[in-house]
Amino acid sequence: MRFSGKTALITGSTSGIGLGIAEAFGAAGANLVINGFGDAAEIERLRDDLARRHGVNVIYDGADMSRPEQILAMVARAVDAFGAVDILVNNAGIQHVAPVDDFPVAKWDAIIAINLSSNFHAIRAALPAMKKRGWGRIINVASAHALVASPFKSAYVAAKHGVAGLTKTVALEVAESGITVNAICPGYVLTPLVQKQIPDTAKARGISEEEVVKNVLLAAQPTKKFVTVEQVAAFATFLASDAAASITGAVLPIEGGWTAH
Ligand code: NAD
Repeated sequence: MRFSGKTALITGSTSGIGLGIAEAFGAAGANLVINGFGDAAEIERLRDDLARRHGVNVIYDGADMSRPEQILAMVARAVDAFGAVDILVNNAGIQHVAPVDDFPVAKWDAIIAINLSSNFHAIRAALPAMKKRGWGRIINVASAHALVASPFKSAYVAAKHGVAGLTKTVALEVAESGITVNAICPGYVLTPLVQKQIPDTAKARGISEEEVVKNVLLAAQPTKKFVTVEQVAAFATFLASDAAASITGAVLPIEGGWTAH
């Protein structure tokens, strides 16, 4: 699979799944627009490293995905630089865990903005140039929580179910334009964020870190294995390939059998 001459914009790509997806598209020859928070010098090192190793152009844009005007400006900058965002990967996301009657309103608003509304704003901004080129791929990184719920994650589950609905709707609207729109639904992926939670959870529950992995994180996942960043990234590049041109409007699990229960 080669994406030479194409441009992939991946939101939230300074860490975890987004970084893995950026790496995979860069390795396949796509120019990249990376985005996300972090230390400025570390992000510049990352940008430079991706560009050098893969021989592609890489722009970093620090747009805050909770701010519509910053999302519009980021997409406009990408279109100015490369002519279009050919492959849009809506990946940035945050989580907060609390009972619904205790759920901080500001956290609800932030999760809906970053995990759901940002997808709408980026899609809306990127579509005109995709339509002009008659080719495009929109890949929304949703979650197994776009398909099933877990307690204490009301905002996250609502946002991810919303992403599933948005995916299907936009797919229908652009089905004849050479543009596909799909959602990827990972189960637990051992990103730095998840990794950091393991010692804290072990302490809070008075169990070992191994027990946290087995009895808390992987309890829902029949394979009893984490999904890897590389597996999610390979799935994303496949969905962007010509072989996947007939896959659209799909909400696709990659979760070790979680939603087969
Ligand atoms: P992560 O914390 O490692 O990465 C999140 C990225 O989003 C980072 O680059 C961060 O800087 C960026 N980000 C956060 N808020 C932002 C904002 N306001 N504006 C711009 N960027 C912002 O997390 P991850 O595990 O790689 O998660 C990536 C996506 O995958 C999320 O949408 C998440 O819901 C989804 N997901 C993760 C898992 C998992 O187990 N890790 C499972 C299913 C779905």
